[in-house]
Amino acid sequence: MDSSDDEGEEYLFKIVIIGDSAVGKSNLLTRYARNEFNLHSKATIGVEFQTQTLEIDGKEVKAQIWDTAGQERFRAVTSAYYRGAFGALVVYDISRRTTFDSIPRWLDELKTHSDTTVARMLVGNKRDLENIRAVSVEEGKSLAESEGMFFMETSALDSTNVNKAFEIVIREIYNSVSRKVL
Ligand code: GDP
Repeated sequence: MDSSDDEGEEYLFKIVIIGDSAVGKSNLLTRYARNEFNLHSKATIGVEFQTQTLEIDGKEVKAQIWDTAGQERFRAVTSAYYRGAFGALVVYDISRRTTFDSIPRWLDELKTHSDTTVARMLVGNKRDLENIRAVSVEEGKSLAESEGMFFMETSALDSTNVNKAFEIVIREIYNSVSRKVL
């Protein structure tokens, strides 16, 4: 790159999305990065990551957000997937209890594979399915509190809180990194 155009600082953070199959991980990512939703998406779209840029304090902050692309169906999310991640969205589906029961396992796996402090957000997705809700807001909140993570209920379908969830994680990473630099 031409050094003459290196104005200001740039940051690049890796963020991973984990959680059981079909909780909406791919759709959360495409909603955030491309503002698209796919009602009949297959878990194996094959998207590896998408990059989203944010401006914070006049600095360009890029988030490289990774999607498991269906690996979790075989319980085979590789350690390479987690490597270098500074943030994680740990997702369940508010209409499927089993996906909430899996969260501790995902948190363990994240802990095992990550080599740094990871900014974590517990995400209860498919909030639009209120009529068949199987996990209360309070349960989500209290699990997040006990694990020291952020919490948000989202809907990739109608966009509720999707940008917010990603941006809280990105800002948290930025803040912790810039604190260290100072
Ligand atoms: P992944 O396997 O976790 O990546 O899940 P997908 O993103 O492939 O979504 C699985 C299914 O759930 C698809 O049929 C999506 O259309 C649907 N889905 C994803 N997010 C939402 C949501 O917020 N609300 C509703 N009602 N359906 C969703």
